[in-house]
Amino acid sequence: MDITLQRVGYTYAAGTPFQKQALHDVDVRIPDGSYTAVIGHTGSGKSTLLQHLNALLKPTEGTVRVGDTVITKETKGKQLRSVRRKVGIVFQFPEHQLFEETVLKDVMFGPLNFGIPEAEAAARAEELLGLLGLPEGTAEKSPFDLSGGQMRRVAIAGVLAMDPDVLVLDEPTAGLDPSGRREIMDLFHRLHEERDMTTILVTHSMEDAARYADHVIVMHDGTDVLEGPPEDVFGDAGRLARWRLEVPRTVAFQREFERGAGLPEGPPCLTEEQ
Ligand code: ADP
Repeated sequence: MDITLQRVGYTYAAGTPFQKQALHDVDVRIPDGSYTAVIGHTGSGKSTLLQHLNALLKPTEGTVRVGDTVITKETKGKQLRSVRRKVGIVFQFPEHQLFEETVLKDVMFGPLNFGIPEAEAAARAEELLGLLGLPEGTAEKSPFDLSGGQMRRVAIAGVLAMDPDVLVLDEPTAGLDPSGRREIMDLFHRLHEERDMTTILVTHSMEDAARYADHVIVMHDGTDVLEGPPEDVFGDAGRLARWRLEVPRTVAFQREFERGAGLPEGPPCLTEEQ
């Protein structure tokens, strides 16, 4: 299921003194089955863009296509619901949205809301908690008695419980320590591979984009300025510099190595902080 945006624009608070155009002339394609990274500086429009992917925001100009569903500013009701079902978003600090008495109820909330029978929703939730590496017995606990990292996994399980075709991740490792970050990123990588799920990672980490993505979109000042495979996008330091971006260290390291420049002194830093 490809996702395409054609000449998409979005203006917050249109027609008020607080009007702010956050996106303009966005033309991108997120290929079916890809692991796409959306990168760019703060304020470049990444979050606004991702909220268009499951119709939380409707474009004020242009068209968003999710598979065969078309979203414009006029789209209502059933179409929006159908897109929300297909595209799951893990927002930043998703654990802030936990609210039920038990972990199990929290993970089941979405599926029950969409009419999945209770037994099936419970079975899905249990399976996901295991898949996400949560210890046995977590299902019956209050989410608020868990560690921060575990709460985040529960919140992610809640999104996965909807069995989305597309998973959108907004800075999913924000606030985690380096080992927690690596674990979560490896988990998404595994889900992408095993479930064949189109994955869209919104990040300001060029390293994560280089390490995990097979398709990269660079946002700048509310529009897409570069799009393609990581080898192409990260292939030209001079071009990246136009948007104040650098070649990721891991890519630079690899290049030095391949050019036969000998082994650089130490391994590249793989844990650069957010
Ligand atoms: P990013 O995710 O890349 O940091 P955003 O999509 O959050 O970028 O923001 C793009 C632009 O839209 C910024 O100038 C930001 O200040 C503005 N913006 C974001 N959210 C709102 C909002 N709710 N109301 C008004 N302006 C907003």
